[in-house]
Amino acid sequence: GAGVGFALWGFWMVVSYGRAMRLAALMIVVVAPAALAIGIYLWARGDVLARLYTLAWSVLLLGHAVLVLNKMGVLPRNVLFEYAPQFGAALEVLLFSFALAYRINLERQRRYEAQSHALAAERLARSAKEQALLVQKEANEHLEARVTERTQELESANRRLEEMSAIDGLTQVKNRAFFDQHLAAEWRRNARARHDMSLLLLDVDHFKKVNDTYGHLAGDACLKHMAQLCELCLNRPGDFVARYGGEEFAILLCHTHLEGARVVAERMRKLVENTPLQWEGKIIHLTVSIGVSSIVPQPKQDMKGLIQCADNALYGAKHGGRNRVMMSISGEGDSLVMESMQPCPS
Ligand code: GH3
Ligand code: MG
Ligand code: MG
Repeated sequence: GAGVGFALWGFWMVVSYGRAMRLAALMIVVVAPAALAIGIYLWARGDVLARLYTLAWSVLLLGHAVLVLNKMGVLPRNVLFEYAPQFGAALEVLLFSFALAYRINLERQRRYEAQSHALAAERLARSAKEQALLVQKEANEHLEARVTERTQELESANRRLEEMSAIDGLTQVKNRAFFDQHLAAEWRRNARARHDMSLLLLDVDHFKKVNDTYGHLAGDACLKHMAQLCELCLNRPGDFVARYGGEEFAILLCHTHLEGARVVAERMRKLVENTPLQWEGKIIHLTVSIGVSSIVPQPKQDMKGLIQCADNALYGAKHGGRNRVMMSISGEGDSLVMESMQPCPS
């Protein structure tokens, strides 16, 4: 618009005022209705600014139309009609200022909305991140719990396996391998504490005959029965029984001197003698011979001496007539010396 205005002004200066005015009038005749038509079209589409613009231009045009009609004598000549364009322009300015205020408000609202959107997006991103962290933390905790659970299962399976490898399958008491380990550990412990420890070796009398008379299954049942009687006889927490060989059992009594061990052995012997096994309608009488040895172990002393003494005492019991307890009395010093064997008073 400004460019066209300058062009007309130049035309007026260089060519002629009359032509420039005609040209301007022609332009106004074409451009003004076109601008008004565009304004009305945009108004119809709901544009608030177009409405204000159209109203502003309409009042200005109306003002000028009133002046033209006034000059043409259609309308009466008075101050109100003479100044109609000025009133129109004032109203136009007022409406344009409304439009400007509306535009400023609109911009401010848009900026506010954009900021709110950005904030909401930021908050959303933060909460998504927190959610992801929470999920990851939960997954880690779950994984840790599973690992702990699996480790515990594995440990308990290992323990079961260890226990199984330490147990004699037939009698369910500890086996020879475990007895050897246990004796070594107890030996060290009692050596440190300077405590007595005693060993009982039990051998079922004439067991071959049991097998021959009743069969091997009956023999197996007798061994289970023997193991149960051994466990029945022991009442201290540290007492320990193992199947030492075929029909031999070993009992280790910690913190127990020879006399105490003899009492346990005698109780055991009597229990076996008085508790026959009832097996498939038959009554099987059993007796045992028991060799007892005792020692206060020295840290560097060989454990074999204790076993040897008990074995010698057992041999003595067998030769003494079976169904009896014999003790080996150890000598002074590092080695265990078989000094005497005493039949137990019954
Ligand atoms: P002794 O009084 O001299 O001890 O006589 P014994 O017949 O018991 O002689 P010995 O100790 O030499 O014999 C042990 C027998 O125990 C040999 C074997 O047939 C039997 N035996 C060993 N282990 C088992 C077992 O697991 N089951 C059964 N049924 N018998 C066994
Ligand atoms: Mg034997
Ligand atoms: Mg035997």
